[in-house]
Parts: sequence; C-alpha cells; structure tokens
Amino acid sequence: MKKATYHGIRDIRIEEVPEPAPGRGEVKVKIRYCGICGSDLHEYLHGPFPRSTFGHEACGTIAAVGPDVTEYVPGERVCTVFPGAFAEYIACPAERLIRIPQSMDWKRAAVLEPLSGAAYAIDRGRVMPEETVFIAGAGTVGLMFLLGLKAMGVHTVYMTDLLENRRRKAEELGATQVWNPKQVKSPAKVKELTQGRGVDVAIEAVGVEATLKDCLASAMYRGRVIVQGIFTERPQIHMLGFVTRETTMIGTSSIYPPLALQWLDTGKTLPESIITDIIPLADIAESGFAALTGSNQTAIKILVEP
Ligand SMILES: [Zn+2]
Repeated sequence: MKKATYHGIRDIRIEEVPEPAPGRGEVKVKIRYCGICGSDLHEYLHGPFPRSTFGHEACGTIAAVGPDVTEYVPGERVCTVFPGAFAEYIACPAERLIRIPQSMDWKRAAVLEPLSGAAYAIDRGRVMPEETVFIAGAGTVGLMFLLGLKAMGVHTVYMTDLLENRRRKAEELGATQVWNPKQVKSPAKVKELTQGRGVDVAIEAVGVEATLKDCLASAMYRGRVIVQGIFTERPQIHMLGFVTRETTMIGTSSIYPPLALQWLDTGKTLPESIITDIIPLADIAESGFAALTGSNQTAIKILVEP
C-alpha cells in the first residue's frame, strides 16, 4: 500500500509499504480521509516531536480486528486518533478509536479530532454561555473554538487573524467582530468593546509571542487564558502583569470527543465548513504541506484522501 512518511524537515515521501496487520488489541482501518494538522506542519517546518503525531486526524472503515478486540466489528465507521494515517491503512490500538454515528458524513468525521481538542479546552476552561471570549487566530484551532463556543450558546466571540480569508471564514461562522491584529491593537480594541473590562476568557490559537501577549492583555482581571497554539520560540511574557491581574493560564492538548459529538448532535455545528481542499495522497507534499506553509496561504484545513 501507499504511505506518506516523514523523513525530516520539508521531506515527506510516498512509499510502498506492506499493509499493516492488526496485533493484539489493535484494529485495522481503511482510511477515508486524514486531515493535515497544525502539529504536522510544525514537524514539517521545525523537526519531529519527541513522540511524533504525524498524520493523526483520520477517519475510515474498520477492515479487520486483531485478537482480543471485542468492542468493534469490521465495516464500522470510526475516527482514528493515532499517528501514521497518511496511508491507505493503519493498525490502530482500539482505545485510540472514536466511535462515531454510522451515518456521519465523512468530512465531518475527518474534523472531529480538532473539534474534540476545542471541546476539551472549553470544558477545562469552564467557559460559560454568558461570558465574553477573545480568540487570537482563525486557523483550524481558532475556528474550532468558535464553533464549539457557538454550540454552547456563547454570544460574544472576538477574533483576530493576519489572513483575510480566515477572517472572512470567522465572520461567516458567527464571530461577533473580527480584525487584523497588525492593523488594530487587540488589547485596546477588546477594552473598547467590553467597556474597559476585558474579556472573561482569551484563547491563544496560533503559538507565537504576539498572540499570547494579546491574550494576556485582553483578559479581564482574574480572567482565564487558554493556550492551545504550538510554540516554536520561547515568548517573553510580562510576568508582573500576569501576577497583578491574577490571570489563570491553562495549557491544553488533550481531546474530549463526547462533548464534540454532543455539539454535532444538535446539528448547529458544521465543522466541515473549514475544509478548503481535498487532495490525493500522492500530492501531499506539494498540494498539502508546501501549500499550507507557503507565502500564498488560501487553505485552512486540507484533507488527504488515500
Ligand atoms: Zn490534530
């Protein structure tokens, strides 16, 4: 079968490898789509994580189950939250599967994992419907937060992004107000919009110093800052402000699929609307990774179809 493997910085190759056989406790899944995640791009640009997660946002149909797997049967639709899914098949530990409704649209299933990341963070940050939220970044992570917050009934969500197509998408998906943080100073704008108070919750969805600072300075006294961006550099933070404003900062990288599935159940959340391209596996390096990291970025979420 064909598989895209990570060989190093900006080096992804399509290889012919044997089909995986499911071992004890594993399930073999025929991949329908695997989304390219921000963490995949991070590895592509900066080198591998200690435990690589390359190609972990996939969905597909169970082709076979290994010994001791009793809770799944071949033919079921699932999401696989396990690296190595830029491939025709994957052998995935059963506990890394998410059971999805069998009628679920494949594109929706393909973005369930990032939506589950937002679900986890919103749950851990205890965001309430009556609270005001600022999200720095309108890429996949930021937009998933927006969709989750909307599903929870949060009315006021301000967002920023440098790219116009992402700002437009945020507006389309219901953000209260969206601006370019290069042109408008976010903390001042947020103060103006909240009668000088600041937002209850600020969400960092990029992973750079400027957006983290915007979040820390936009959150109210005793506010919360949720951080899900992946940082390459070590940011310089104004710790005195952090202390005197009694900010709570929460780092999140886990997922909470039950809440994401609940949002989808209401029918009001359409996370697949952030998918901008579906590309064949053979084109993953050029049309996938190079396109998402190049200077002319019009894509938001790209799905790879083996
Ligand atoms: Zn991901």
